[in-house]
Parts: sequence; structure tokens; C-alpha cells
Amino acid sequence: MEEVGTGLLDRLDAMQRVAASAPGGPLLIVAGPGTGKTRTLTHRIAYLCAELNVFPEHCLAITFTRRAAEELRHRLDGLLGPVAEDVTVGTFHALGLTILRENAGAAGLPADFRIADDAERAAARTEAGDDSAAYVSLLRKQDLVDLDELVTLPVELLRADRKLVERYRDRWRWIFVDEYQDVDEVQYELLRLLSPADGNLCAIGDPDQAIYSFRGADVGYFLRFSEDFTDARLVRLNRNYRSSAPILAAAVQAIAPSSLVRGRRLDPARLDPEAPLVGRYPAASVTEEADFVVRTVDDLVGGLSHRSLDSGRIDGRSTSLSFSDIAVLYRTDAQAAPIVDALTRANIPVQKRSHDRLRDRPGVAAAIARELRHADGLAGPLAARVRLAGQVVAERFAVPTLDGAGSTVRPEDVRSAVDLLTPLARRCGDDLEAFLSQLATGAEVDALDPRAEAVTLLTLHAAKGLEFPVVFLVGVEDGLLPLRWPGSTPDEDAVAEERRLFFVGLTRAQDRLYVSHAARRTRHGTERDCAPSPFLNTIDPGLFERFGEAEPRRPKDRQLRLI
Ligand code: ATP
Ligand code: MG
Repeated sequence: MEEVGTGLLDRLDAMQRVAASAPGGPLLIVAGPGTGKTRTLTHRIAYLCAELNVFPEHCLAITFTRRAAEELRHRLDGLLGPVAEDVTVGTFHALGLTILRENAGAAGLPADFRIADDAERAAARTEAGDDSAAYVSLLRKQDLVDLDELVTLPVELLRADRKLVERYRDRWRWIFVDEYQDVDEVQYELLRLLSPADGNLCAIGDPDQAIYSFRGADVGYFLRFSEDFTDARLVRLNRNYRSSAPILAAAVQAIAPSSLVRGRRLDPARLDPEAPLVGRYPAASVTEEADFVVRTVDDLVGGLSHRSLDSGRIDGRSTSLSFSDIAVLYRTDAQAAPIVDALTRANIPVQKRSHDRLRDRPGVAAAIARELRHADGLAGPLAARVRLAGQVVAERFAVPTLDGAGSTVRPEDVRSAVDLLTPLARRCGDDLEAFLSQLATGAEVDALDPRAEAVTLLTLHAAKGLEFPVVFLVGVEDGLLPLRWPGSTPDEDAVAEERRLFFVGLTRAQDRLYVSHAARRTRHGTERDCAPSPFLNTIDPGLFERFGEAEPRRPKDRQLRLI
């Protein structure tokens, strides 16, 4: 293997370096979880700019979520310094918006077009009924664009205008796409238009983590990359830096029956012989499962419940773990409530990742409107943003004026509104248009703070890309994972996608992983018996350490005991 580059690439292993320093042309990086995809991607961009004199403004990096885009931007800043600003980094939607803004006239849109919010979309849908052309023209009359059109309209524009295609190809000569396994048909089409078949397209991802087919993503585009792009170079990263050896072995065995990667290999970089096995807890009930999480968290963080109030001493074994190192993952949002309750009752701080729309948060819209009236308390650039946010939210969502119901807004809601807006304001910098368009598209309130001293609760989908020293994967039961509606039989593809979701969950863990399942659970209003997930069956039982003994006893056993 060729050893290339010094300095900038020193922090990469040999294969990561091969990927980061590969010559131009189509490049596919097939990389499992924890193999350093983001690290490799950012170093490739930095290497090309710093060592091969590629202009940062010729680089376009696309991701799927705003959070991932921010992370990429942050890491590029660290590697490249101020010139990193010239790299275009964004989601597919942000890219589409840029193209549309620059070509509004050609797309038949006024320069100040807006993105329709949920209420505006719903109103247009109701009025248009089944007629999807009528729907679009209703939006157009109000100078509105549907969120989905942020990708479809640029595709139409580019298809109709070769000169425009050439202009963008000239601007973005190097394109990088993270999580390529999650592209859908229109996003793929946009990429094909922006990048010629022999272009400098670098796609990176893991087919075994494709979990968005319900949203139209098609892992097939990843799998046929080398057919679509001429002489594509393929680099595999197999070395996992994240998880202990037992966790990684369990994850690899779990994905094996559905793996889309031929000869899937994940070699542990961490070989600690003392690494704990994967904890498995068969709970009798959901309450018992939640109690297990509480007990274990309490134990791991050093018995905080035994804290002596007199001395402020922690009366437990010393440990370097804190609540922020711990995550509880689950398949459906409904599973969070009993866990949150149990942790809260034990005085353990929790934070739950939320993808609520800003205006859907209780009291938040009203609080912003109130802030509008009282903004003179506030100072600095945030004041202007909050005032503007107040206007937008009040106007768009018909928030009651504060003389009536608004007067019931609590001061803590106002503070929470400001807290929620601050990161958005900070992210958008001076770009007022971006700030407004994020609000108008129903900016997600992502309350997750990686530094918060709290246990994090997440759905498996939301946990993608993240890592935690300690992970609890709860509700690992047939019917929940794989998820199934009572009485329905999911097809093979759906089960395979659920298994990939399980794989994503297992591979979030760095040092300790616990899987649990309850023998009875209420779903859809009925309490039912539950069997452990069949996904556990392909994992060597020797990798598990069983906790508790709560398997439901057969009546015969109980009788024998009574005698
Ligand atoms: P996922 O598929 O789950 O998104 P990923 O491939 O993006 O995973 P990263 O999150 O980039 O993986 O990296 C996983 C962990 O491994 C991180 O903590 C990262 O800092 C570490 N890591 C990656 N490469 C190296 C390396 N060469 N040396 C040391 N640590 C590394
Ligand atoms: Mg990643």
C-alpha cells in the first residue's frame, strides 16, 4: 500500500490516508460504523485544498441533516482555518435553495419566493384535493415553494439548460457526499447533473446503515456507483475505532444475515482484554426494564443517589463516567415515557432529542410573540433575530396577541424560546435570509446538547452518526424491533431495514452496551406478551452477560415452589 502525505494526514490510518489522498475522479468510500468517515471526508477536502491547490470554492460537500452539515463545517474550520468558509457545505435542501435563489426568474419564481410552511401546505392541499398540478399553482399564487420542490425544481431547471449545468460544474469541480446510502431518486438525479460520469465525485457511506427507505431513499444508488460513474475507485475502511471488541463482534453478527456489503469486515482497533461483555436484561415488564436502566445508570455514575448531603461527598466507587456519557435508544418514541419517568423519579437528569417544529413546542410561539413586545430587554444581534422571529411566528401561525391568552405565557417559556433561538441565530450568522427560511420551513428544535450533564434519550433513527461510552438499547422485542403492526406481516425488505436499524443502535456504543426486553408491554392500547427480538438469535450467547432473572415462570414452576 502506498504511503502518502505527511502532516495533514498524520492523524489518519493507512486506509483512511489512501481514501483522503486518492486522485481525482469518481471515488466510493465504503466504510462501516466507527471507521472514521467524517474524519476521512474532512481530511480529503483539506488535503486537496492544502496540498493539491484545489480552490476551496470549487468544493461542495453535501450531507443529509443540518447537524451533520454543521459538524462538517466545524471540522473543516479546524483543519483549513478561515478559507474553509469558501467550501460550500450544506444539505440537499440547502443546495437546492441556493440554485433556485440564483435562478428564480428562470424557474418562474419571484426573487423573494418563500418556502411554504406546514399550515400553508395543508391549506393548499385541502383546496386542491387530489389535483397535484392545482396544488402547485395555489402555492405559486402566494409565491410559495414546497419543501420537496427545493430539489425537484433545480433538477428541472438543469435538465432544460445545458449551459446552466456547465456553469455549476465549473463552480463545483469537487463534490463530496456523506451518507450516500441514503440518497433518493431526485437527489441522485441532481448529483448526476452536477457531476459528470467521470467527475470528481466522492461518495462515502455504509449500505448496512441505510435506514431511510420509508422516506424514499434507495440504497441501490450506492450499490451501483461503479456502474454509474466511469472508472470509479473503491476504498474500504474496515478498522473500527469506536467500540470495544465484544460490542463490535455482537454488531457484526447481528447484521450478518442482511449485510449488503460483500465480506463485511469490521476489525476492532480497541483490543482491551478486560472489556465487558454486552449486558442482556430480560425484564418481566416495562417498569422493570426502566428500573434496570435507572439502577445501572446510578451504579455507573457512582451511586449518586447515595450522595451525602452533609459533606457533598459521593459515597460510591470512583468512576469517570458522567450522565452525558449515557444514551438510551429505542425504536419508537412511545417507549421513552416510562424511562424518562423512572430516571426523573431517581433524580437523574435527562434530555430527549426532539425533532419538533419550533412553533409546535408548547408555549414557544406565544413566548416569542411576547418577546417581540419585550425585546427592549434584550440586547445585541440576538434581539433583532428574536424580534424578527416573533414577527414571523406571530404572522405565520396566527399566535394570539398577548392581551388575551398570551398573558398566560410563563417567564420560563420566554427564556426557553430565547434558548431555542440562540443556536439557530448563531448558526445563521449574518444571514438573515437563512434564519428566516429555517423558521419558515419549520426549523427543527434540536434540543440535544452533547455537553449537557444528562442522560440522552433518542430514537434509533435520531442516533445515527452519534457515539456514546454507554448505550442502553431498550425494547429489543419481536414486534418492536423489527417493528410490526399487530396482525401484519412485514416483507423481507422491511425486516432487513429493521435489522440495519438494530445494527445502527448497537454500533453507537463505545465501552458498554446493554440490551433489554420486556416480557409484557402495552402496545396500541392492549397489554401483550412479548418475545425477545429474533435479531438477538444470530449473536453468540457467549458475548452476553445476563443480568437479573426475570423470565416469566411457567405456572408449573410456581406451583412446585409453593409446595
Ligand atoms: P458512523 O457510521 O457511525 O457515522 P463514522 O465512520 O462516521 O461512523 P466517526 O464518527 O467519524 O465514524 O469515527 C468514530 C470514532 O473513531 C470517533 O471517535 C473518531 O474520532 C475515531 N477515529 C476515527 N479515525 C480514527 C483514527 N485514525 N485514529 C483514532 N481515532 C479515530
Ligand atoms: Mg459518521
